[in-house]
Amino acid sequence: MKILIANLGSTSFKYRLYDMDGAASSMLAQGGFERVSEYTPCIEKMLEDLISEGHLASGSELDAVGFKTVLGKDLSGCVDADDRVLAALEGFKEVAPAHNPAYAEGIRCFERLLPDVRRVALFETAFYQWMEPAAYSYAIPQAWRDLGIRRYGFHGASHKFIAERTAELLGREDVAQRVRQLYVSGAGSFEGAPLRVLSCHLGGSSSVTGIRDGLAIGSSMGFSPQSGLPQNNRVGDLDSMAIPYACKMLGITVEEAERQLNKESGLLGLSGVSNDARDVREAAASGNADAKLATDALVDSIRHWAGSFFFKMGGAEVISFTAGIGENDVELRAAVCAGLEGLGVKIDPEANASTIRGKEGVISASDSKIKVVVIPANEELVIAREVYRQVSK
Ligand code: ADP
Repeated sequence: MKILIANLGSTSFKYRLYDMDGAASSMLAQGGFERVSEYTPCIEKMLEDLISEGHLASGSELDAVGFKTVLGKDLSGCVDADDRVLAALEGFKEVAPAHNPAYAEGIRCFERLLPDVRRVALFETAFYQWMEPAAYSYAIPQAWRDLGIRRYGFHGASHKFIAERTAELLGREDVAQRVRQLYVSGAGSFEGAPLRVLSCHLGGSSSVTGIRDGLAIGSSMGFSPQSGLPQNNRVGDLDSMAIPYACKMLGITVEEAERQLNKESGLLGLSGVSNDARDVREAAASGNADAKLATDALVDSIRHWAGSFFFKMGGAEVISFTAGIGENDVELRAAVCAGLEGLGVKIDPEANASTIRGKEGVISASDSKIKVVVIPANEELVIAREVYRQVSK
């Protein structure tokens, strides 16, 4: 079964084509476009390429297209990307302005270009459906909660892949199996020994998730992907009183405040250098104090959230790093794990330094009680598997 995964960034379009056969999968092709302002030409060009490279005879040979939709109002899980999904994306478009409009446009584009090819959405919030009410409820009036304002959690496909892969690496087939079946058979009960993972997805946008026995217990991201760690150019956590105060003192509107928090904050806002972690790291190394502050603040926030989940889960067996920064920034990984010998965390500097550029590996010392691992992100595979199941139903 040929399944295309469409990854629609606010300024990019990336894709992967999989051939799925039961649990087995092989990736046939991948590609992408940067600085995208319109999706239709990219999708047309992608189809042309897939055909000329011999992966497809025509677009309609695709069995399904999968979308990593972000936040739906009153909707999550893996579902057909129909009008209900478009309405759910529309319902929360103000909450995820960088993501929801892009996915709505992308889904409509495929509907127009390939009307007969099934479209399936896997929401990034799906992995968090077993979170406890005490963990997802904000202490706000009922009328606000009735609007759907609560913690959701994001990067679900990525963290779910980490839940499965860490279990495999630790030889815990019971947990790996549970994770693979989550969206089919639900969480059920779990009798095995605990497997607790502090999962750090650190990329253009970043989050930390606590995973106990294959289930997410919480995320640093809350109501929107705007919260939690400092992001590339988005703010992360901020006290709610800061917005009315800044509006009054700076004489700006709420909309302008929102724009600044969405586009001029995060690593860019703190460093004044760039929204790209590599540039910020370089500037810090050459003595730029603001850039150093930005990197330090990211490390501090990762430790803050990992510490919170460590406490909530009563410990951890694994700390995992994934995505652009997590897979490559050796110094940052060392800083996140520094001084934790008392908790049983000890990094092997050589293993840490050599596990970069898409390499998977254990970077903790052999006598470290908690294993520290680097796992290349593979959210597309998680989506392809769920799409396959949805289409095979
Ligand atoms: P996205 O969330 O956009 O998919 P990625 O997971 O590709 O992003 O991560 C992009 C981030 O990873 C960028 O901030 C980039 O600077 C950072 N990154 C890539 N390589 C390195 C590196 N060697 N050191 C530090 N950061 C890196």
